[in-house]
Amino acid sequence: MMKKSTNQNAFKIICDIIGHKYVVSKQVTSHVKEYTCKCCKKQLTTNSNGDLTELTPTFKEINSILEDIYTRRMVRIK
Ligand SMILES: [Zn+2]
Repeated sequence: MMKKSTNQNAFKIICDIIGHKYVVSKQVTSHVKEYTCKCCKKQLTTNSNGDLTELTPTFKEINSILEDIYTRRMVRIK
């Protein structure tokens, strides 16, 4: 029962109780950011409604496209 290899699960339980400690891990556009929990490494992102949602592989792909468009537009303004 008391295994040290279950640290990640322990962190998840702590997060479930006291809440995640999200930090911005990536600024995709001025509105869209990616967040990572410092504790359990869970990742979130801003969706098209401006709400936070779990960063799934699909959202990662959307974000990389958004970032590409956003970066190109910023270059064009300069
Ligand atoms: Zn967490």
